[in-house]
Amino acid sequence: MVRRAIGIDLGGTQVRAALVDDTGAVLKRAATRTDVAGGPAAVMAQFRSLIEDVTDDASLGSLSGIGVCAPGPLDSDTGTFIHVPTLPGWEDFPLRAELSAALGRPVVVEGDAIAACYGEWRFGAGRGLDHLLYVTVSTGIGGGVVSDGRLLHGRRGMTAHVGHFRLAQDGPRCSCGAVGCFEAFAAGTALDRRARQAALAHPGSSLARLAAPTAGDVVEAARQGDATALALLDEEATLLGEGFVSLIHLFSPEKLVMGGGVAHGFDLMDETIHRVIRTTALPSFRDVPVAKAALGDNAGLVGAAALVLFDERAR
Ligand SMILES: [Zn+2]
Repeated sequence: MVRRAIGIDLGGTQVRAALVDDTGAVLKRAATRTDVAGGPAAVMAQFRSLIEDVTDDASLGSLSGIGVCAPGPLDSDTGTFIHVPTLPGWEDFPLRAELSAALGRPVVVEGDAIAACYGEWRFGAGRGLDHLLYVTVSTGIGGGVVSDGRLLHGRRGMTAHVGHFRLAQDGPRCSCGAVGCFEAFAAGTALDRRARQAALAHPGSSLARLAAPTAGDVVEAARQGDATALALLDEEATLLGEGFVSLIHLFSPEKLVMGGGVAHGFDLMDETIHRVIRTTALPSFRDVPVAKAALGDNAGLVGAAALVLFDERAR
């Protein structure tokens, strides 16, 4: 019998839900704007309404449970939020206990990058591997790790906050308050900032025609052959490659899978990322491949549902 679960991806902008089966297929999706001002009570009501939208005629009782992923750090051992800058009012909110009591079904709560890693491992670009490193590069940089055939959680479920290792002792200020984090150099917001500077410095670039060019605009312009945009992506690929080299040394994955919004330009950065790894990693790590995530925006949703269906922690 096919088993099914609900995956919910709670972000500071959108909350999305999907009905997912045990082959990883997304049967139905729904989304709405996160009621950030309403806090946990309002968002719990949004969860209920999204769950109704995606369950169709299936009663909640026939589902294996609900998996929720959200920006970390969150304590996935207890299913409790710790502190999420984009979700004020959720400090110490015991989401797993509250949602499970409200719905009468098992609930798993996991950091969004760890859930996405699990989704890619079960059903995406990391399928079948024993050692996988997933890195999401969007507003920030997050990660998840499968090692020796199991998903790593770490103390309080907070493993692999890979955006916050220091790439340099100086440099841009990170969202965490420190200076020189990998995220501060290479996340989408850092590329946005370099794109705005480049647009001012290169009035002939198509980026200069935009009021505030973003990472997405850079990828778009690079595809049209814009030299400034291509140079920006090459610099981005170099920074990503440098961070990836350290992460590959730490976790020894068979493959590094890159997701997040910046991965839309992966094909344009692929060669440089691999060149940095081939030339700067320890010799025995130089053949580790980097690939684009296969599940795209669905990775967190599918991963959160898959954690309910397959992970031993859900039982
Ligand atoms: Zn940081």
